[in-house]
Amino acid sequence: ELKLKESLFRLNKAVMGFYFDELKQSKQGENARIYLEKRGISKDIIQQFKLGFSPDNWESIVNLLKKRKISKKVAVQCGLVLERKQNNGYYDRFRNRIMFPIFDVNMQVAGFGGRVMDDAMPKYMNSPETPVYIKSRILYGLHAAKQFCRQEGFVYIVEGYFDFLSLYQHGIKNTVASLGTALTSDHVRILKGYAPKMVLVFDSDAAGINAAKRSIEIFMKEGVDTRVLVLPEGNDPDSYIVKHGQDAFNDLASNAKTVMQFLLKVSIDTHGLSVEGRIRILDDMKQHLSLIQDSALRSLYVKELAETLNIDEKAVLEKVREQYLKHN
Ligand code: ATP
Ligand code: MN
Ligand code: MN
Ligand code: MN
Repeated sequence: ELKLKESLFRLNKAVMGFYFDELKQSKQGENARIYLEKRGISKDIIQQFKLGFSPDNWESIVNLLKKRKISKKVAVQCGLVLERKQNNGYYDRFRNRIMFPIFDVNMQVAGFGGRVMDDAMPKYMNSPETPVYIKSRILYGLHAAKQFCRQEGFVYIVEGYFDFLSLYQHGIKNTVASLGTALTSDHVRILKGYAPKMVLVFDSDAAGINAAKRSIEIFMKEGVDTRVLVLPEGNDPDSYIVKHGQDAFNDLASNAKTVMQFLLKVSIDTHGLSVEGRIRILDDMKQHLSLIQDSALRSLYVKELAETLNIDEKAVLEKVREQYLKHN
């Protein structure tokens, strides 16, 4: 088991070196170099995070394995190559993509993500789950961010590779990316080891808002002090900081909403403040409120909600209590 993991890490590292050299030097890599330049990614960031390019070829990695006498079986287990039908050889998973090695917290290469350079689908492809790439536990960028998370006392959580890299390049280094997967309680517990506070900065689109709502439940269950930074509609952290810079981002961050303020805003935006709307909002919010562990904090939010909805505080409290009893 240990030996298997070691050989998976070793192969991933070799392949990372190959993709990195392809980006740096190959003729085909020119498009990828231009793509990254257009997106504003600096040479230093490419170097530090070992970004790469997978050539437009079905057997680049297959040939690399042959040359270095590495077993195909290991490469299949890494998810780097796939078996052709009817035992007819192997082919590369990642072709013609910008490659992002995904490091674990000890700086071992756990897996890869790859992005197309046009609007082909799927936009991103990731390594499958392997013994060294456990998606419920890995956070992109944590190996580099951890010291800054400790320093700052909080961590920004973003969705994507470019969000992480752009923030980092603009000096906001206490950041990790969830890579579009749902945050898990393992993720949150791991982050708690580096910083007590977390700020969610998801994309300001329907998918991002839904992802934020789902994540919030996990933060609340883990009892973490969480804020939500809401970007202007249509932005993600990358597009925002490239357009407006670090100071503007920090200004927004200083006004990040509490979880309850965020959930309430989303619910008001959805239902409106008519009589029926306010009842629906109360129904939405009682779920969230019943998850708050700290009773003093819960009663403060109950009061705030009662005031916003202009509903009697006792009635709100009663709803929250019913909800709590249903689940405990
Ligand atoms: P870009 O700025 O390059 O368009 P993005 O990171 O803003 O990329 P999103 O669509 O917002 O792209 O997705 C956020 C993250 O979710 C991605 O960075 C990637 O990690 C993951 N993701 C998105 N689409 C897919 C997909 N089809 N398969 C696997 N992961 C994906
Ligand atoms: Mn998105
Ligand atoms: Mn995005
Ligand atoms: Mn983006």
